[in-house]
Amino acid sequence: MKPMCTTSRTATGRNAKGHTSILPGMRGSVARHLAAVMALATVIATGCGVAGEPAHRTAGAAEAATDSTRTPASPENSMSPKYSKSGYDITPLPRDAVAKLAAKLDPEAYRITQKSGTEPAFCGNLLDNHKDGVYVCVVCGLPLFSSQHKFNSGTGWPSFYQPFDPAHIVRKADTGYGMVRTEILCARCGAHLGHVFDDGPRPTGERHCLNSAALKFHEKGAQLPPESQPANAGAGGSNPAPVAVAYFAGGCFWGVEHYFHRGPGVIDAISGYMQGHVDHPTYRQVCSDTTGHAETVKVVYDPAKITYRRLLEAFFTMHDPTQLNRQGPDFGDQYRSGIWYVDEEQKREADAYIEELAASGRFGSRKIVTQVEPAKTFWPAEEYHQEYIAKNGAACHVKDPW
Ligand SMILES: [Zn+2]
Repeated sequence: MKPMCTTSRTATGRNAKGHTSILPGMRGSVARHLAAVMALATVIATGCGVAGEPAHRTAGAAEAATDSTRTPASPENSMSPKYSKSGYDITPLPRDAVAKLAAKLDPEAYRITQKSGTEPAFCGNLLDNHKDGVYVCVVCGLPLFSSQHKFNSGTGWPSFYQPFDPAHIVRKADTGYGMVRTEILCARCGAHLGHVFDDGPRPTGERHCLNSAALKFHEKGAQLPPESQPANAGAGGSNPAPVAVAYFAGGCFWGVEHYFHRGPGVIDAISGYMQGHVDHPTYRQVCSDTTGHAETVKVVYDPAKITYRRLLEAFFTMHDPTQLNRQGPDFGDQYRSGIWYVDEEQKREADAYIEELAASGRFGSRKIVTQVEPAKTFWPAEEYHQEYIAKNGAACHVKDPW
């Protein structure tokens, strides 16, 4: 039998936490594991994805609805909808809904997601998948990981250094098999996904070790099913557009992100790179002025609380739109002023507002050089750039627009 997804890097012989390789199927440990899971069950409202198949049971979809090891009636039924910062509905699904979804899984996906199983190393179908796209929960379709964070860990399991959105993953202590590990589960349906370890690469230093069978891959450009789309994107969904997205480039993204974060009705602001011609750009590459990217802030907002127009006003207060390819002390086209629109309505509003500003005489005879272009791929910047001002308290040239 092949080793489990342990703290050790089995393929390379490294053993980060000094555990010996422990094989699955140790019933005493399973029982302890189950007890631990039961104790923690209130944390995971759906209670699914519980680990450790009891000895008297066999895996099977038909059991899902009557599995007595699961937590009793879920309080989540009465919970109001919960959305992640990236705009997905992550309201925990009620048990019966999970059971219905789980009943459609193939036996291997069922064993792994519903019984905390582990697939043999080097056997999963997504280990060597190098295509661009998104990895969603095989049970409920929530996007969990992105190809841009996948790396070859040498362990034999698909590995990612960060999740698609931290709120899409729930972490839980797993003391099964005589080890202390951190289990990861789908935040929406509670599916067991794998474990997370602290021996990953930069920038996070984390290694999310996944079972291929817990994931479903959608290649970039493919039509995503409604359950894998942000809450405001599904046609005919019951959720009225709770979030919208806008992109602004106004020089060094630290300050722009900082002030957008503080906007009333802004759900999130993320620093990144856009409008270039290199995939997965790094800060170093972007600074070399050869990739065509502009330092950009992705603003996720609630259009019921703040309008795109108000974001435009804030943007033009924060930075000086008459400076060409520079902003304050920073020179280079990565610091250019730009609005990257996601639809024709945003383009129309941006063009109209710039025209209005130009006519207002606010900038005297200086010409507004802000570019207005359709949004290309947004590449989130390295973790240390996120919330940089809040973390480091650095001063910046950007004006508070609120
Ligand atoms: Zn799920």
